[in-house]
Amino acid sequence: MNTALVWLRRDLRITDNTALAAAADHAANVVPVYVLSTWRGDHCWTGANRQRFLCGCLSSLAQNLTATGARLVVRKGSAVEELARLVEETHANAIFFNRDPDPFGRRTEDQLGAFGEKAGIKIVGCKDATIHERDEVLTSAGEPFRVFTPYARAWAKVGKAKARGRIGALRTPNRLSSLPLPTLETWGLKPEAEVLAPGEKAARARMKWFLEHGLAHYATGRNALAGELTSRLSQDLRFGLLSIRELFEKCHKRESELSASGKRSANKFMSELVWREFYVSILWHFPEVLDMEFNPKFRGMDWPGDLEHFDLWCAGETGFPIVDAAMRQLGQTGYMPNRARMIVAMFLTKDLLLDWRLGESYFMQKLTDGEISSNNGGWQWSAGTGADAAPYFRILNPWTQGARFDPDGEYVKKWVPELRNVPAKLLFEPPASGERLAAGYPAPIVDHAGAREKALELFGRYGRAHAARV
Ligand code: FAD
Repeated sequence: MNTALVWLRRDLRITDNTALAAAADHAANVVPVYVLSTWRGDHCWTGANRQRFLCGCLSSLAQNLTATGARLVVRKGSAVEELARLVEETHANAIFFNRDPDPFGRRTEDQLGAFGEKAGIKIVGCKDATIHERDEVLTSAGEPFRVFTPYARAWAKVGKAKARGRIGALRTPNRLSSLPLPTLETWGLKPEAEVLAPGEKAARARMKWFLEHGLAHYATGRNALAGELTSRLSQDLRFGLLSIRELFEKCHKRESELSASGKRSANKFMSELVWREFYVSILWHFPEVLDMEFNPKFRGMDWPGDLEHFDLWCAGETGFPIVDAAMRQLGQTGYMPNRARMIVAMFLTKDLLLDWRLGESYFMQKLTDGEISSNNGGWQWSAGTGADAAPYFRILNPWTQGARFDPDGEYVKKWVPELRNVPAKLLFEPPASGERLAAGYPAPIVDHAGAREKALELFGRYGRAHAARV
């Protein structure tokens, strides 16, 4: 009887899972496999929150697969070696997987392709994580886009595949050994934050709630820091608990039922999903962004900030209420809203003049939704070195941003209890030099106006030096 392996990675669902469906079409026996990584302890690109969420997702996936008649096989080690071992054990003639657009995933896929060729096994990579990928959205000259708006316009014009629904009955041979489902201890980690409920069922409930109650108001609420008026679907897309095709289809359907302002909101939300695809495309075409600035003007730039300020930024002890609230929220929950991510990222790079890579890596260690492409894109955009039509002198003022997006100080007071009794309007004005907003809360570690001048001078100097070189 024909057997196929399905290598599951960032697609931990049984609804509209392209590789799983393709494997079921191909073979009578389907072996779903997850290969655990072997690192233990600290890791500069991940941390306890995302691994904790992953553990819950794998446990829920195992249950969902059991309900279809299949069984999740868990192995640990090098993915290619473990898959090769399973091919030997099962006599499988094919391995299916959904492609991972980041360079680490790509490298492993290439190695798997080489193994398949040598072993005479069919290796099938499927498009699943994004609606469009690789060379599907290019300029008329056949070049990758470097700026979002024309990318989004071209993206909209390309034909879209339809979602396929939930997988039917599957069968997995019984005799295969499997490791137990992982726990945080598998990686030598201890729990940090209470993450959102993991698994496909919880993600589908979040999607349903947002479509019914959030989508119509998204455009007005998305920047309000206190309200949590966004979808909170980022970790679900990161781990593939939801199909991006299905999410888009459902958004379009719901949009058709909404008023004109609701339709605008729905379109704003869908354009954020296209940002996600844009950053995947940037990372695919320009994988060097993981090591260097996307904008060649700023490559090799020195970041003259004080490293002790980095520790204060991480701890939420900078004396800037909005920055500290956001950093403490991240530390305690593994999440931060988009507006706050932009504020703290600009603060690290433009006020503290510290290298965006420090923040990028810290975010990857803490965020449950930590995703290499969006995180790198968000950091480079905020640092002024990235794929952005506006130049580096877009600098958010952390005082006025607080006043604008947390006018009652509700967000600040929630995360920075030392400031609970400070009137809201004082939270968003720099205190007189050396003064503190409250006992036990630090004075601002830099002067924003002065830091802004320094940042403009630094970026301007690098820009001019580059222009002289070319
Ligand atoms: P919603 O506002 O409901 O948006 C819906 C979905 O659209 C999100 O779930 C996400 O998939 C996508 N999206 C929204 N905004 C963006 C954006 N600016 N770029 C790319 N995709 C977007 N997003 C991540 O998923 N992982 C990250 O590691 C990440 N790091 C970031 C780092 C910085 C410095 C910045 C400025 C942004 C980062 N983002 C990242 C983008 C964005 O902040 C989050 O996707 C969003 O806050 C998640 O909350 P939500 O699901 O409620 O978003």
